[in-house]
Amino acid sequence: MLGKVVLVGGTHGNETSGIQLINHWKQHGVPEHLASLNLGLVIANHSAIKDNVRFVDEDLNRQFTYQALAEQKDTLEAKCAEQFNQEFGPKGSSTTELVVDIHNTTSNMGATLIILETDHFNTQLARYVKHVMPEAIILVEDEKPFEEHGYLCTVGKKGVMIEVGAQPQGVMREDVYKLVEKMAIAILTFCAHYNENESLVETPCEAFRLGETVSFPLDDKGERTAMVHRDLQDNDFAPLLPGDPVFRAFNGETIGWWGNEVTFPHFINEAAYSKLHIAFATADKCEI
Ligand SMILES: [Zn+2]
Repeated sequence: MLGKVVLVGGTHGNETSGIQLINHWKQHGVPEHLASLNLGLVIANHSAIKDNVRFVDEDLNRQFTYQALAEQKDTLEAKCAEQFNQEFGPKGSSTTELVVDIHNTTSNMGATLIILETDHFNTQLARYVKHVMPEAIILVEDEKPFEEHGYLCTVGKKGVMIEVGAQPQGVMREDVYKLVEKMAIAILTFCAHYNENESLVETPCEAFRLGETVSFPLDDKGERTAMVHRDLQDNDFAPLLPGDPVFRAFNGETIGWWGNEVTFPHFINEAAYSKLHIAFATADKCEI
């Protein structure tokens, strides 16, 4: 039997869809067919939302490694993390069955479901979401064990993220909001069915598995020498072949994909990763 499910918005304060969806459902209730779920609706970082910023002191969605939780730092987000962990964790022996954390991205990733492991539950969830929402993208980030991630959703026994874009930071777009709502309902509907073993999907579904992050080219002073090429921009999860344009250098030159094999870039030109000089992440196509 699936226990408590917690749906979270506002882990990043300028990602508006999840914040609005949580507030709406708090006020008006969830759709009727989900009423049987033991569901918590949570806003994670009120201060960041008030300031319309991603975070106040540091990224809340990186505060949930065992190490970070043990450090008890004096930052606003470390305190947020401690509180969330107390209420819905503790991580590793959690009282929460599933944490679903809602995000927006400035990249054109459409409606992406990020899963962190491919066990029975996550695989069935992904297949179900893809089945009822064919436009959904399934992204697998299982490059390390579930518990080693610093993500907020790892406080639950299981955790997934909804990541929808493209939407500028602090802005609310109707098309993006509706995709977030649709994916949240799909996930929660699966949870309601999972208890009755009703929704098992035998057929594997297409997914993408995270590869590595690719940085902008920098000169020896650490200044960027190129921008994302217009042919790559907004083409998240489209195949990038060896030699295809990746960057446009400010001297006019085109920098082509230097990899030997096709890859599937995503988080292309994500605003939140700009400070880290991350241009995009790669992925392989797979089936789960
Ligand atoms: Zn986010």
